[in-house]
Amino acid sequence: MRRQAVKVRLYPTDEQIQVLAQHFGCARWWWNYGLNKCIKTYKATGKGLSQSGLNSLLPKLKKEKETEWLGECYSQVLQSVSLNLSRAYQNFFEGRAKYPRFKSKHHRQSIQYPQKVKQVDNALKFPGRLGTVNAKIHRPVDGVIKTVTVSKCPSGKYYASVVMEYEGDYPASKTDGKVIGIDLGVKDFAVTYDGEKVSKYQNPKHLSKYEKNLAVKQRIAARKNKGSNRRRKANKIVARVYEQVSNVRQDYLHKLSRKIVDNNQVVVVENLNVKGMVHNRKLAKAISDTGWGTFVNFLSYKLERSSGKLIEIDRWFPSSKLCSNCHYQVNELPLDVRTWTCPSCGTHHDRDGNAAMNIRAEGIRILSSSGTGEANANGEDIRPIRGRKSKMRQSSVKLEAPTKLTL
Ligand SMILES: [Zn+2]
Repeated sequence: MRRQAVKVRLYPTDEQIQVLAQHFGCARWWWNYGLNKCIKTYKATGKGLSQSGLNSLLPKLKKEKETEWLGECYSQVLQSVSLNLSRAYQNFFEGRAKYPRFKSKHHRQSIQYPQKVKQVDNALKFPGRLGTVNAKIHRPVDGVIKTVTVSKCPSGKYYASVVMEYEGDYPASKTDGKVIGIDLGVKDFAVTYDGEKVSKYQNPKHLSKYEKNLAVKQRIAARKNKGSNRRRKANKIVARVYEQVSNVRQDYLHKLSRKIVDNNQVVVVENLNVKGMVHNRKLAKAISDTGWGTFVNFLSYKLERSSGKLIEIDRWFPSSKLCSNCHYQVNELPLDVRTWTCPSCGTHHDRDGNAAMNIRAEGIRILSSSGTGEANANGEDIRPIRGRKSKMRQSSVKLEAPTKLTL
């Protein structure tokens, strides 16, 4: 069984907007009320509340005068909130997430329909009072529809994220095709080497134009009085421009990852601990803007669907400082040095192209070493689980100090 999600834009009528507002309000109230209950229970017993524990509170609340309006909300939407809240608590207890937070009406609003949503031509048919909502459906909704999350962005647009389930698994991954190494950077977004040529991909062209516009709109909004109507309107404009920026970026990342996956079977990237690197202030903005993490995720799922393979190599692998020709390693290579000559063999290197070559070679090494019995026979553990360290190079190559960046 495999799952896939599509995001579609929704165009609710005025009446449906009212129904949605009511549902968002009920779901938010129930989350905050439930969270409050969980906090009290936690203080008293050291435990949170289970989904069924939370659900059992609902019938009584629906009967009470002050909270009888909860009955207006489709009940499975509220039960989804209970499930998500109990999960959020569990994730917190097991160290996977921060403590769950209260929800504000000023942020993105969302509700979930756990089942019974259908596609009817260019619309989605929801159970309960919401009914059939017009939608712009780009990709076919061809699986069995499971959970549907309806959200409203701060810019005022409505979306539905439709999770579908398909029979069968993805085809097993193969590693007999082309191998490409990718060096992700700030100057160029990505530099690749596929065994034949080095290609450079710059950051999306119009992004900086949109970003400038975003900064202008943010300054305008900041000048308006807090809590005023003008401020609210200005913030809505900011939200809209912000959406443009992120759409341009996502579109670029989708196209580039699609191109790479279509032309290669194995993709090798450095395991980026983006969070760790963002500590460096100078690079922080550039890195969070470039969306490397998103890009690697796009590569990962696209490869999975096309039976390709993603190999992440350790991020302290000295990809920049190693000569791809003779494997001599230079001690230092400051970020502003874009080209260098190997003191050992005399090869003149373009910094990023050389790094992409080294990354590719390291990926091939991991692939071939796992084929000689170090990993299990079908090579399943070639691809480390994201975030986990891959095998280190066994040679005497010195590792780069963690304070030096290998961009
Ligand atoms: Zn050399």
